[in-house]
Amino acid sequence: MRAVFSKTAQYRAVKEKSTKYDGIFYVVDKTTGKYCVPSCVLAAPLEKDCLFFGTTQKAKHQGYIACSECQPDQQRFTLSARIITRINAGDIDSYGIHGFADSLSISERQLRRIVQEQTGISPLEFNREKRLRSAKYLVTKTELPIIDVAFNVGFSSLRQFNDAFKTAYKISPREMRKPAHHKAGSKKLLSLHQNKNNNKKVKHEIT
Ligand SMILES: [Zn+2]
Repeated sequence: MRAVFSKTAQYRAVKEKSTKYDGIFYVVDKTTGKYCVPSCVLAAPLEKDCLFFGTTQKAKHQGYIACSECQPDQQRFTLSARIITRINAGDIDSYGIHGFADSLSISERQLRRIVQEQTGISPLEFNREKRLRSAKYLVTKTELPIIDVAFNVGFSSLRQFNDAFKTAYKISPREMRKPAHHKAGSKKLLSLHQNKNNNKKVKHEIT
């Protein structure tokens, strides 16, 4: 299920101590019998002494032992854990779904399958939930104007944001914020924007 790298590319990653491939493959130093993540701080073995494995289980199965320095069996190095961490850090918003899969050296199809297995939903749905969780935090814990919250978490329009928020939490962001104290400035900014979008409604209310 993982992308196949040439040994040369894998060795280059080990020489560069690139964290990009941590959790994607593991390197064994035949002289020490230990397996590491590519970014391990210990000196990179000679190319002729390297063996590469897609999972720690496979390395273990062949009798190699985990390096105590980089601790390659830790959960944070599994590909699925890294994917979830990176989505939560906003990497789908930054790179797009295709660029994100590329940065992990896996296909979009593999990415979808891994996220689906982990979360029960697709990467884009998971990312949308992540945005809404961040939004809920900003709405309830900060005084950031709602429109800024929307753009901050990655929505491109206030309407889209309001709709998605309402669908998820059965309440609008404005209603959720109500009990909190407001700053006059943020209220003004918010109502200005709404007037622009709901001209008809506002006019009707005025007459
Ligand atoms: Zn190591």
